[in-house]
Amino acid sequence: MSSPASPSPGPAVRLSAGDPDQGPLATGAVTLVLGGEAVDFELTVPAGPVAVEDLLPVFQGLSSLLAQRATARAAAQGRAVSCRAGCGACCRQLVPVAPAEARALARVVEAMPQPRQSQVRARFEAAVATVAEAGLFTTPSAPGEINRTVGLDYFRLGVACPFLVDEACSIHPDRPLSCREYLVTSSPAHCASLSAEGIEKLPLEGDPSMAVLKADLRDGWLPLIHALAFDQSAPPSPRDRTGPQILADVMGRL
Ligand code: SF4
Repeated sequence: MSSPASPSPGPAVRLSAGDPDQGPLATGAVTLVLGGEAVDFELTVPAGPVAVEDLLPVFQGLSSLLAQRATARAAAQGRAVSCRAGCGACCRQLVPVAPAEARALARVVEAMPQPRQSQVRARFEAAVATVAEAGLFTTPSAPGEINRTVGLDYFRLGVACPFLVDEACSIHPDRPLSCREYLVTSSPAHCASLSAEGIEKLPLEGDPSMAVLKADLRDGWLPLIHALAFDQSAPPSPRDRTGPQILADVMGRL
Protein backbone atom coordinates (compact mmCIF):
# COMPACT_ATOMS: atom_id res chain seq x y z
CA MET A 1 0.00 0.00 0.00
CA SER A 2 2.94 2.34 0.62
CA SER A 3 4.24 3.70 -2.62
CA PRO A 4 5.41 6.88 -4.35
CA ALA A 5 2.41 8.92 -5.34
CA SER A 6 1.46 12.36 -6.52
CA PRO A 7 1.34 14.87 -3.67
CA SER A 8 -1.89 14.94 -1.69
CA PRO A 9 -3.53 18.32 -1.09
CA GLY A 10 -4.16 17.93 2.63
CA PRO A 11 -1.75 18.51 5.51
CA ALA A 12 0.33 15.58 6.62
CA VAL A 13 -1.12 13.28 9.26
CA ARG A 14 1.24 13.43 12.22
CA LEU A 15 1.66 10.34 14.37
CA SER A 16 4.33 9.93 17.00
CA ALA A 17 5.67 7.49 19.56
CA GLY A 18 8.52 7.79 21.99
CA ASP A 19 9.71 10.17 24.67
CA PRO A 20 12.61 12.52 23.84
CA ASP A 21 13.72 12.20 27.47
CA GLN A 22 14.24 8.46 26.91
CA GLY A 23 16.41 8.77 23.80
CA PRO A 24 16.67 10.39 20.37
CA LEU A 25 13.68 10.35 18.06
CA ALA A 26 13.61 10.06 14.26
CA THR A 27 11.04 11.83 12.11
CA GLY A 28 10.32 10.94 8.51
CA ALA A 29 7.74 11.50 5.80
CA VAL A 30 5.90 8.74 4.00
CA THR A 31 3.02 8.74 1.54
CA LEU A 32 0.47 5.96 1.73
CA VAL A 33 -2.06 5.35 -1.00
CA LEU A 34 -5.34 4.77 0.83
CA GLY A 35 -8.27 3.81 -1.35
CA GLY A 36 -6.57 5.44 -4.35
CA GLU A 37 -5.88 8.66 -2.43
CA ALA A 38 -2.33 9.69 -1.59
CA VAL A 39 -2.12 10.61 2.08
CA ASP A 40 1.01 12.20 3.49
CA PHE A 41 2.22 11.17 6.93
CA GLU A 42 4.87 12.62 9.22
CA LEU A 43 5.93 9.83 11.54
CA THR A 44 8.11 10.17 14.64
CA VAL A 45 9.51 7.10 16.39
CA PRO A 46 12.45 6.26 18.69
CA ALA A 47 15.66 6.30 16.65
CA GLY A 48 17.47 3.54 18.51
CA PRO A 49 16.81 -0.15 19.28
CA VAL A 50 13.35 -0.57 20.83
CA ALA A 51 10.57 -3.11 21.23
CA VAL A 52 7.52 -3.17 18.99
CA GLU A 53 5.35 -1.93 21.86
CA ASP A 54 7.34 1.30 21.95
CA LEU A 55 5.83 2.21 18.57
CA LEU A 56 2.24 1.24 19.41
CA PRO A 57 0.94 4.85 19.59
CA VAL A 58 1.78 5.27 15.89
CA PHE A 59 0.03 2.03 14.94
CA GLN A 60 -2.96 2.87 17.13
CA GLY A 61 -3.22 6.25 15.43
CA LEU A 62 -3.03 4.64 12.01
CA SER A 63 -5.65 2.06 12.94
CA SER A 64 -8.00 4.76 14.24
CA LEU A 65 -7.45 6.86 11.12
CA LEU A 66 -8.43 3.96 8.86
CA ALA A 67 -11.51 3.35 11.02
CA GLN A 68 -12.48 7.02 10.73
CA ARG A 69 -12.06 6.94 6.95
CA ALA A 70 -14.18 3.78 6.71
CA THR A 71 -16.87 5.40 8.87
CA ALA A 72 -16.88 8.50 6.66
CA ARG A 73 -17.16 6.39 3.50
CA ALA A 74 -20.09 4.48 4.94
CA ALA A 75 -21.80 7.73 6.00
CA ALA A 76 -21.39 9.09 2.48
CA GLN A 77 -23.26 6.01 1.29
CA GLY A 78 -26.03 6.59 3.84
CA ARG A 79 -24.88 3.81 6.16
CA ALA A 80 -24.30 4.55 9.84
CA VAL A 81 -21.93 2.60 12.06
CA SER A 82 -23.98 0.88 14.75
CA CYS A 83 -21.10 0.43 17.23
CA ARG A 84 -21.45 2.68 20.27
CA ALA A 85 -20.86 2.79 24.03
CA GLY A 86 -23.35 0.51 25.71
CA CYS A 87 -23.07 -2.15 23.03
CA GLY A 88 -20.50 -4.76 23.97
CA ALA A 89 -21.85 -7.44 21.67
CA CYS A 90 -18.47 -7.96 19.99
CA CYS A 91 -16.54 -7.90 23.29
CA ARG A 92 -17.18 -11.59 23.91
CA GLN A 93 -15.39 -12.55 20.74
CA LEU A 94 -11.83 -13.81 20.60
CA VAL A 95 -9.55 -10.77 20.41
CA PRO A 96 -6.10 -11.69 19.08
CA VAL A 97 -3.31 -9.39 20.20
CA ALA A 98 0.34 -9.17 19.31
CA PRO A 99 2.86 -9.71 22.12
CA ALA A 100 3.56 -5.97 21.95
CA GLU A 101 -0.10 -5.24 22.61
CA ALA A 102 -0.16 -7.73 25.49
CA ARG A 103 2.76 -5.87 27.09
CA ALA A 104 1.01 -2.54 26.59
CA LEU A 105 -2.24 -3.84 28.08
CA ALA A 106 -0.32 -5.10 31.12
CA ARG A 107 1.06 -1.59 31.62
CA VAL A 108 -2.48 -0.17 31.34
CA VAL A 109 -3.63 -2.51 34.11
CA GLU A 110 -0.58 -1.69 36.27
CA ALA A 111 -1.49 1.99 36.06
CA MET A 112 -5.08 1.45 37.23
CA PRO A 113 -5.93 2.62 40.76
CA GLN A 114 -7.17 0.20 43.35
CA PRO A 115 -9.62 -1.43 43.78
CA ARG A 116 -10.18 -1.24 40.02
CA GLN A 117 -6.83 -2.89 39.27
CA SER A 118 -7.53 -5.88 41.50
CA GLN A 119 -11.00 -6.26 39.99
CA VAL A 120 -9.61 -6.30 36.47
CA ARG A 121 -6.88 -8.78 37.42
CA ALA A 122 -9.51 -11.06 38.94
CA ARG A 123 -11.58 -10.86 35.76
CA PHE A 124 -8.53 -11.85 33.69
CA GLU A 125 -7.88 -14.84 35.95
CA ALA A 126 -11.53 -15.92 35.78
CA ALA A 127 -11.61 -15.61 32.01
CA VAL A 128 -8.39 -17.61 31.58
CA ALA A 129 -9.75 -20.34 33.88
CA THR A 130 -13.09 -20.56 32.07
CA VAL A 131 -11.47 -20.80 28.68
CA ALA A 132 -8.87 -23.34 29.86
CA GLU A 133 -11.59 -25.53 31.41
CA ALA A 134 -13.14 -25.68 27.96
CA GLY A 135 -9.82 -26.92 26.57
CA LEU A 136 -8.96 -23.72 24.73
CA PHE A 137 -5.73 -21.78 25.15
CA THR A 138 -4.47 -23.87 28.03
CA THR A 139 -0.99 -22.30 28.02
CA PRO A 140 -0.17 -18.67 28.83
CA SER A 141 1.23 -18.12 25.36
CA ALA A 142 -0.73 -19.59 22.49
CA PRO A 143 0.98 -19.31 19.13
CA GLY A 144 -1.28 -20.50 16.39
CA GLU A 145 -3.52 -19.84 13.50
CA ILE A 146 -6.40 -17.46 13.90
CA ASN A 147 -9.27 -19.38 12.42
CA ARG A 148 -13.05 -19.30 12.54
CA THR A 149 -13.40 -22.63 14.36
CA VAL A 150 -11.44 -21.58 17.43
CA GLY A 151 -13.14 -18.19 17.29
CA LEU A 152 -16.59 -19.81 17.43
CA ASP A 153 -15.55 -22.20 20.21
CA TYR A 154 -14.34 -19.23 22.22
CA PHE A 155 -17.45 -17.16 21.49
CA ARG A 156 -19.75 -19.96 22.64
CA LEU A 157 -18.24 -19.64 26.14
CA GLY A 158 -19.67 -16.14 26.49
CA VAL A 159 -16.58 -14.82 28.28
CA ALA A 160 -16.73 -11.05 28.46
CA CYS A 161 -13.54 -9.11 27.93
CA PRO A 162 -12.06 -8.19 31.33
CA PHE A 163 -12.15 -4.56 30.27
CA LEU A 164 -15.88 -4.56 29.49
CA VAL A 165 -17.84 -2.50 32.04
CA ASP A 166 -21.57 -1.86 31.66
CA GLU A 167 -21.24 -3.10 28.08
CA ALA A 168 -18.69 -0.38 27.28
CA CYS A 169 -14.93 -0.52 26.84
CA SER A 170 -13.27 0.83 29.98
CA ILE A 171 -9.90 1.30 28.24
CA HIS A 172 -11.18 2.88 25.04
CA PRO A 173 -8.07 5.06 24.30
CA ASP A 174 -5.82 2.04 24.86
CA ARG A 175 -7.94 -0.69 23.27
CA PRO A 176 -6.22 -3.22 20.96
CA LEU A 177 -5.85 -2.58 17.25
CA SER A 178 -8.35 -5.27 16.25
CA CYS A 179 -10.97 -3.60 18.49
CA ARG A 180 -10.37 -0.27 16.74
CA GLU A 181 -10.79 -1.93 13.36
CA TYR A 182 -14.05 -3.76 14.13
CA LEU A 183 -16.88 -1.55 12.86
CA VAL A 184 -20.25 -2.75 11.64
CA THR A 185 -23.30 -1.15 10.11
CA SER A 186 -25.52 -4.13 10.91
CA SER A 187 -27.66 -4.76 13.98
CA PRO A 188 -25.83 -5.58 17.25
CA ALA A 189 -27.95 -8.74 17.33
CA HIS A 190 -25.79 -10.21 14.59
CA CYS A 191 -22.56 -9.55 16.54
CA ALA A 192 -24.16 -11.17 19.59
CA SER A 193 -25.12 -14.33 17.73
CA LEU A 194 -22.92 -17.27 16.84
CA SER A 195 -23.48 -16.74 13.16
CA ALA A 196 -21.45 -14.26 11.18
CA GLU A 197 -24.25 -14.11 8.67
CA GLY A 198 -25.79 -10.70 8.71
CA ILE A 199 -22.71 -8.95 10.11
CA GLU A 200 -21.84 -6.07 7.79
CA LYS A 201 -18.28 -5.24 8.75
CA LEU A 202 -16.75 -2.13 7.23
CA PRO A 203 -13.73 -2.84 5.06
CA LEU A 204 -10.64 -0.82 5.94
CA GLU A 205 -8.00 0.42 3.55
CA GLY A 206 -5.30 -1.48 5.40
CA ASP A 207 -4.88 -3.94 8.25
CA PRO A 208 -2.62 -2.46 10.96
CA SER A 209 -3.59 -5.12 13.53
CA MET A 210 -2.47 -7.95 11.27
CA ALA A 211 0.61 -6.01 10.13
CA VAL A 212 1.73 -5.54 13.74
CA LEU A 213 0.96 -9.20 14.52
CA LYS A 214 3.15 -10.35 11.63
CA ALA A 215 5.95 -7.93 12.51
CA ASP A 216 5.89 -9.12 16.12
CA LEU A 217 5.26 -12.85 15.76
CA ARG A 218 8.36 -14.19 17.42
CA ASP A 219 6.24 -15.13 20.44
CA GLY A 220 3.06 -15.95 18.54
CA TRP A 221 -0.28 -14.20 18.85
CA LEU A 222 -2.29 -14.29 22.05
CA PRO A 223 -5.92 -14.11 23.05
CA LEU A 224 -6.40 -10.81 24.89
CA ILE A 225 -7.29 -12.65 28.10
CA HIS A 226 -3.73 -14.05 28.25
CA ALA A 227 -2.10 -10.61 28.12
CA LEU A 228 -1.28 -10.38 31.84
CA ALA A 229 -0.08 -13.99 32.17
CA PHE A 230 2.10 -13.57 29.09
CA ASP A 231 3.61 -10.35 30.42
CA GLN A 232 4.53 -12.08 33.69
CA SER A 233 5.89 -15.29 32.20
CA ALA A 234 7.57 -14.36 28.91
CA PRO A 235 11.12 -13.00 28.67
CA PRO A 236 11.50 -9.28 27.96
CA SER A 237 10.59 -8.13 24.48
CA PRO A 238 13.47 -8.23 22.00
CA ARG A 239 15.02 -4.85 21.26
CA ASP A 240 17.08 -5.84 18.26
CA ARG A 241 15.55 -3.46 15.73
CA THR A 242 15.49 0.32 15.62
CA GLY A 243 12.25 2.29 15.62
CA PRO A 244 12.53 3.10 11.89
CA GLN A 245 13.21 -0.58 11.09
CA ILE A 246 10.12 -1.74 12.97
CA LEU A 247 8.07 1.03 11.37
CA ALA A 248 9.20 0.02 7.89
CA ASP A 249 8.38 -3.64 8.65
CA VAL A 250 4.84 -2.85 9.76
CA MET A 251 4.16 -0.32 7.00
CA GLY A 252 5.32 -2.83 4.42
CA ARG A 253 2.70 -5.31 5.64
CA LEU A 254 -0.33 -3.02 5.69
S1 SF4 B 1 -10.60 -4.09 24.85
FE1 SF4 B 1 -12.48 -2.89 24.92
S2 SF4 B 1 -13.29 -2.93 22.81
FE2 SF4 B 1 -11.76 -4.58 22.97
S3 SF4 B 1 -12.93 -6.44 23.49
FE3 SF4 B 1 -12.23 -5.50 25.43
S4 SF4 B 1 -13.93 -4.17 26.11
FE4 SF4 B 1 -14.26 -4.65 23.92
